[in-house]
Amino acid sequence: LQLRERLHHQSVRDQLTGLFNRRYMEESLERELLRAERHSLDLGIIMLDIDHFKKVNDTHGHDIGDRVLESLGAMLPNLIRGEDIACRYGGEEFILIMPGASIEDTMRRAEEIRRLIRTRISVPLPDGGDLHITASSGVAVHPTHGAGADGIVKAADDALYRSKRGGRDRVTLAEG
Ligand code: GH3
Ligand code: MG
Ligand code: MG
Repeated sequence: LQLRERLHHQSVRDQLTGLFNRRYMEESLERELLRAERHSLDLGIIMLDIDHFKKVNDTHGHDIGDRVLESLGAMLPNLIRGEDIACRYGGEEFILIMPGASIEDTMRRAEEIRRLIRTRISVPLPDGGDLHITASSGVAVHPTHGAGADGIVKAADDALYRSKRGGRDRVTLAEG
């Protein structure tokens, strides 16, 4: 039984951050969108991307970059509800799925997370200093900003892109 649990854990989790992996995120989003549809509920998603992460690696090395990802992975589940789903979507990109969350709920949460990332994440450096980071987000909410998993993720991604263009360390709501 223990082995089976471990294998299951490995199949749905990202090793470095401990968050759910992309495949699990995609399955969960499909399932949660069907549920939201059936019960006429909103569903918010936050797509979050660390700012200038390449520079973190280039300046401090890949191991320090990994510590940043671990630290964010440890933090995110504490900033969301039990029924919400936090995933590592790609390298330094994360998606939070928030069943039942309205535009206002999701924006408020995204802004809170943005603030806590810039104030709470602190990775010790070998020279004695501490590394701090910021992150940018895009918010999209079903059914306002897209029908289906691909549509809602695309809407959040477009909004994230606008956060980057606008200067980073900010949250942007999808258009429409
Ligand atoms: P932006 O503010 O526009 O998002 O810039 P950025 O540098 O964060 O974005 P870019 O996509 O140019 O670089 C992402 C970097 O993330 C590049 C890649 O080496 C790094 N990365 C991806 N996965 C990992 C990982 O598992 N560990 C570490 N240390 N770095 C990673
Ligand atoms: Mg980035
Ligand atoms: Mg990125």
